[in-house]
Amino acid sequence: MHRLMVRGVVRGAAASIDSSSRWVLPDPKLLHTARPCLSDAGSSGDRQTQSPETSASSAAPSSTVDSADKQNKSNSERERSQPTTAATAASTLSDSFGRFHSYLRISLTERCNLRCKYCMPADGVQLTQKQQLLTSAEVLQLASLFVAEGVRKIRLTGGEPTVRKDLTEIVAQLKATNPLLESVGITTNGLMLTRQLVGLQRAGLDALNVSLDTLRAARYEQITRRKGWDRVMAGIDLAIQLGYRPKVNCVLMKGFNEDEICDFVELTRDRNVDVRFIEYMPFTGNRWDTEKMVPYRAMLETIRARYPAFEALPNGPNDTSKAYRVPGYRGQMGFITSMTEHFCGSCNRLRITADGNLKVCLFGNTEVSLRDALRSPGCSEDDLRCLISAAVKRKKKQHAGMLNLSQMENRPMILIGG
Ligand code: SAM
Ligand code: SF4
Repeated sequence: MHRLMVRGVVRGAAASIDSSSRWVLPDPKLLHTARPCLSDAGSSGDRQTQSPETSASSAAPSSTVDSADKQNKSNSERERSQPTTAATAASTLSDSFGRFHSYLRISLTERCNLRCKYCMPADGVQLTQKQQLLTSAEVLQLASLFVAEGVRKIRLTGGEPTVRKDLTEIVAQLKATNPLLESVGITTNGLMLTRQLVGLQRAGLDALNVSLDTLRAARYEQITRRKGWDRVMAGIDLAIQLGYRPKVNCVLMKGFNEDEICDFVELTRDRNVDVRFIEYMPFTGNRWDTEKMVPYRAMLETIRARYPAFEALPNGPNDTSKAYRVPGYRGQMGFITSMTEHFCGSCNRLRITADGNLKVCLFGNTEVSLRDALRSPGCSEDDLRCLISAAVKRKKKQHAGMLNLSQMENRPMILIGG
């Protein structure tokens, strides 16, 4: 018999879940399955390889804190001190630090049609066997459960979500069956948008993030190990024509694309896009190095040198990005400063991996298998809620810091989904 182990801490109860027949109540630590290293995962026999070549600091430099930075600082302090309501404090999705998690990112696939060097390890990743991945019915079932508990925003990611044939159908179903859901978005490399975006919009897609690290076609091929820059640009322009304001995610790296920072600012002159520079983050196999990371404050200095009027904008309570713009430009900019100024205090995100593990922190390597629970005979929605709540309650206050993270075993980013 498959024995699944749960300690329920929902609604104040150390719940006993049908201990006689289907479920037992063991050591809650056993719910945390530390991710095995990929080589171990590979030898377990349920994964196949996706190779990179086949198929298809140091602390931020100190600078004077100017008024724009102060505005961002006070925004984030305000976010942190926001009280949770009594209702959220007792709920499945609130953690022991008062953070309520209303944003769920679901990875739909481990596959990708690009091979970005900072995301996919040089020796590839072991792919999980199909039967171990969540089916679309399971994705929808879990999504509805999270929405019932208070999730209001879902982002579909991957791997590359657009390689999944039923993406449009999943978006349509999410929208049709979850009226409380305020936004369904995707994060995509943009290669397939010109073919798929009209259908996705009809299905109800609310938002999209497109990853693009360079504005030069030849460089694009170097970083992604594939061609396609012009298709991505066409996809971004189509998104604008269809009325979206796409977020353009750019991982800035020293010695690679940091010389394009002002070119990306120029992209916002006539295009209504939100370009977000992401600090390069360490994940298993991506050969992260502080020397390659461009800290947020260094980015800001470079931009300010050319655009003295570059100004900070107000941020929302759970924004991960610090918003800026050049006055008069149509679009705006943002900085995702996970490494040098983390925003763990206002984190409202949970993640489900394509193989069905709940990950309460991007940088944490403890995971809980919702797939195994779902597939366990007799598992009820309450059982699932208990499992989810227990995992959320164990979420740590903040991540371990970039140098520690670089030493830690975690999934490669391609198997998490960002
Ligand atoms: N394939 C889709 C895409 O590229 O947008 C979705 C998945 S991708 C893993 C999600 C985001 O993670 C992308 O914006 C990508 O740039 C970002 N990412 C991947 N590896 C990263 C790293 N080491 N540091 C910072 N961002 C990273
Ligand atoms: Fe694929 Fe996105 Fe990772 Fe690039 S960043 S390899 S597009 S999953």
